[in-house]
Amino acid sequence: MTDNGDSTLENMRTQMDRAQEYAQVTENVFRRLKHPERTLEVSLPMLLDNGEERVFKGYRCQFGGARGPYKGGVRYHPSVSMDEVIALAGLMSFKNALVKLPYGGAKGGVVCNTKDLSRDEIKRITRRYTEGIRRMIGPKMDIPAPDMNTGPREMAWMMDTYSVYEGYTIPEVVTGKPVELGGTPGRVEATGRGVAIITEKILEYHGRSPDDATVAIQGYGNVGSWAGRLLAERGANIVATSDVTGGIYNPDGIDTHEVATQIENGGQIADYDGECDRISNDDLLRLDVDVLIPAAVSHVITQDVAEELRADIVVEAANGPTTPDADDVLVERDVPAVPDILANAGGVIVSYLEWVQNTQEYRWTLEEVNADLERRLSDAFDEMMDAYADYETPDLRTAAFTLALDQQATAHAQRGLFP
Ligand code: GLU
Repeated sequence: MTDNGDSTLENMRTQMDRAQEYAQVTENVFRRLKHPERTLEVSLPMLLDNGEERVFKGYRCQFGGARGPYKGGVRYHPSVSMDEVIALAGLMSFKNALVKLPYGGAKGGVVCNTKDLSRDEIKRITRRYTEGIRRMIGPKMDIPAPDMNTGPREMAWMMDTYSVYEGYTIPEVVTGKPVELGGTPGRVEATGRGVAIITEKILEYHGRSPDDATVAIQGYGNVGSWAGRLLAERGANIVATSDVTGGIYNPDGIDTHEVATQIENGGQIADYDGECDRISNDDLLRLDVDVLIPAAVSHVITQDVAEELRADIVVEAANGPTTPDADDVLVERDVPAVPDILANAGGVIVSYLEWVQNTQEYRWTLEEVNADLERRLSDAFDEMMDAYADYETPDLRTAAFTLALDQQATAHAQRGLFP
């Protein structure tokens, strides 16, 4: 158990407790919704390129499956732990319920640092991991997808490994695949597009628009970099970003495409040679900007950061970036924070659209996918704002969790308890 994973789970349960008084959920169902339904730990022996054998650890957790098959990503990161995977699976169950996808929650992960591994080593880990969890996943059971440090390449390997065991090709067992293998146009940028849509919506709600907004984005991986590029397209001035090597700041704006290209080609923010000041990740969080977008790891907005940050609005692109103590400070300081379970739901929404296309053996256009994504996110945003006003919840997160709990509670009530 790591502190990180442990506190992510505790934080999620605190977020649930805060919503309980507004939600129509019985005590029995509420208690059940706090625990995963199934968690698997697998040992993955793997031959390194240098001939040595190493055993990696992997997990898959399924959480809150009353509304449909389990769904959620697979991350490769040194900080992956069973508790973190459980917490992130729980967050997925609330995310899917909030945006009304017919899914429960899931998350998986392998404890590894992809920076130290070759492409072939990552392939062998991915195949071995898929073999390890293959009795638990399936197109009607549990559908993995990309998360931190995984993408279309890993999804292709997962799909292939699963299909080899089943004896025929089953594209719909994972989403986020390459387009040529049944992936959908728009999936790669979907989470970032969702963040951009939600940022525009929250700015509009406050009578503002992206073209008069400055934005700082912590983390410039898939989610952060697409959010940056798509917000810049909507007129926003992206003034700062960062990765683990540090941050860059330019009040006149950074070139979001140039930085993205550098990162996509394996570069680091520390090596960026465009015009900018060097800042730390901590400085970035405290910049005087209109919108702060944490798009990296969990728990970065702590109580201290919440007291000192100068952004008018926070939009959570990462999973679990704000601690409950920090939420209290943000409420006190009247800084709205759009919760992760809405702000980063674009990825799983487009995963759902990919799965629907696969199961129908039909292809949509990019325009159709993007229009559907925008409609679903806008509706969910409007519902969250209505719940915030009607129930007078202290913050947007509590409103979002209340709606998600209501969806889950209804499914449980309708299905009843077995036996
Ligand atoms: N890993 C993403 C998330 O945290 C996407 C999951 C999916 O597409 O199933 O929402």
